[in-house]
Amino acid sequence: MDGLQRGASVDEETEPEEPKVGDCCGEGCNPCVYDIYRESLKRFKAKRPHGISADSLGLDKIEFKPFRLTIITPQTKDTSIYRFESSERISIKIGQHLELLVPCQSENGVKEVVRKYSPIAWTVTSFDVIIKRYANGEASKYFDKAEPEDVMSWRGPYGNFSYRKDDQEQLVILCAGTGIAPVIPIIR
Ligand SMILES: Cc1cc2nc3c(=O)[nH]c(=O)nc-3n(C[C@H](O)[C@H](O)[C@H](O)COP(=O)(O)OP(=O)(O)OC[C@H]3O[C@@H](n4cnc5c(N)ncnc54)[C@H](O)[C@@H]3O)c2cc1C
Repeated sequence: MDGLQRGASVDEETEPEEPKVGDCCGEGCNPCVYDIYRESLKRFKAKRPHGISADSLGLDKIEFKPFRLTIITPQTKDTSIYRFESSERISIKIGQHLELLVPCQSENGVKEVVRKYSPIAWTVTSFDVIIKRYANGEASKYFDKAEPEDVMSWRGPYGNFSYRKDDQEQLVILCAGTGIAPVIPIIR
């Protein structure tokens, strides 16, 4: 019973929160806080196929949804921050990434490729991504031509990395190039 008393919520309307380090007493309780969490998550997901939660209608893990590119802020000659806005609410967690559907030219006409990007900041209806454009890269060519008011297709978010503010006294982060993107929200 210990797990039930201290455990995650069994409310099926709100997305359950993963237990914090230290919530599990390690004494083999049945159910454990993690059992409650997994069951709550299963029920929550069953009620909302494709990972759509009430507070994240603008983003879906399977279906691409339209976002309007609103601001482009150049950082270097080949790297810019792009702000995308949705007409619906979105929910993103630190460390997660999104997928962009990129229409590009092929010998047989237009083909589509998918590329991943980690938001560096977000609100309830918008997110910012920092993107480096490579010579001849498919998404890079798409972003070379991108202009405010363009509509692009995004889906997600993905990734189970879990970071909690002040969980640790010290944090050492190693990253390189655009690998800095997912750690910017942690540093902030
Ligand atoms: C989880 C995750 C998060 C990411 N987050 C970010 C982010 O926040 N910001 C960011 O900028 N990137 C991020 N990336 C990288 C991003 O997904 C793309 O890989 C990147 O933007 C390049 O895509 P592209 O379509 O422009 O280039 P691609 O078409 O994939 O090509 C990349 C480079 O390889 C060269 N190339 C392609 N094919 C060949 C070939 N056959 N032979 C020789 N050279 C070739 C191209 O000329 C180009 O220079 C992330 C990746 C992952 C996996």
